[in-house]
Amino acid sequence: MSRSVPMVDLKAQYRRIKPEIDAAIQGVVESTQFVRGEKCREFEAAFAEYCGVDHACGVANGTDALTLALRALGVERGDEVITVANTFIATGEAILLNEATPIFVDVDPATFTMDPDKLEAAFTPRTKVIIPVHLYGHPAAMRAICEVAEAHGVKVLEDAAQAHGASIGGRRAGALGFAATFSFYPGKNLGAYGDAGMVVSGDADFIDKVRQVANHGGGKNKYDNQVLGTNSRLDTLQAAVLLAKLSHLDEWTDERRERVAAYSRALASHPGVDCPQEADGARSAWHLYTIRCKDRESLEERLKAEGISTAVHYPRPLHLQPALSRFGGKPGDLPVTEKLCSEVLSLPLYPELPLEVLEEVAAIVASFCEAPVAG
Ligand SMILES: *Cc1c(COP(=O)(O)O)cnc(C)c1O
Repeated sequence: MSRSVPMVDLKAQYRRIKPEIDAAIQGVVESTQFVRGEKCREFEAAFAEYCGVDHACGVANGTDALTLALRALGVERGDEVITVANTFIATGEAILLNEATPIFVDVDPATFTMDPDKLEAAFTPRTKVIIPVHLYGHPAAMRAICEVAEAHGVKVLEDAAQAHGASIGGRRAGALGFAATFSFYPGKNLGAYGDAGMVVSGDADFIDKVRQVANHGGGKNKYDNQVLGTNSRLDTLQAAVLLAKLSHLDEWTDERRERVAAYSRALASHPGVDCPQEADGARSAWHLYTIRCKDRESLEERLKAEGISTAVHYPRPLHLQPALSRFGGKPGDLPVTEKLCSEVLSLPLYPELPLEVLEEVAAIVASFCEAPVAG
């Protein structure tokens, strides 16, 4: 019998909450309020509260959330934004779309997130913002990062696209810096039925600015356009779906955690596999379960032959992407990041992943890593 294990299973999730989702969608259809409106405000308030901050603005997607947050922070041509290179391209795009220059720092090999010790050397008088990425759902070392940022008078914007509900010392992603951005892309831990994103912050004026640029730079009314803006509003249908799903998020995160523990129990004793771990005081949202393996390509092929999906997050760091070549990045600039990119492999992980299937996946990974290396 051929097996087929996906990376995520959104159908399984829908089956669990079908009546709630169907009612939420039906409600919006009947209200014919398709853009913004009460449901959007309700979801913004609920998600802000979930993160532990007072203000939020829904936008069209996570890339816009980053781009518009940087614009609202006043980032402009000639400014520099410090971030990491092992992230999804959107983190870099947001910087470039504001005509600013990305400055990449290397990451901590234990958490794969921004190494605070590398920050100091990256500052120049033009540094405006730091964007740590909570990669795979694991929060970056925010306390140390914010200390350095404060000493230089720059703001910290969390890219929390993968980290809904992650926390450090009980404080959640979204409340760990000046502001944070989230993506609700369908495959994220809290996923819409289309594209959606959000900017959250404790600063009301900043969120007002985001709202203004996300809705045509409006002032007093629709036809009073004070600043250059764009159309990046949160769809009401998405807000209704997300509001229905939000009440399940913590339960789903617990189910992810249970599966992560099972993977790690099965794999931790194998010297050929490097399992992901949480830093002291950190609670990952476990968006991805990403191992390191020296012979990644062969392991990928082996799992594929067994019908098991895997993915590489990310095969090429941003400083080596052709789209960013004008900044002169070259191999060897970020040794930890580059090594990770050549070794990481994400295994299937989602709340509904049957534990017996997970055990089969883990057993194949373990047996592969025990086999003597050919040659
Ligand atoms: C998904 C993601 C984004 C972009 O979000 P979209 O909603 O797809 O635009 C940004 N940063 C990171 C780290 C992501 O994983």
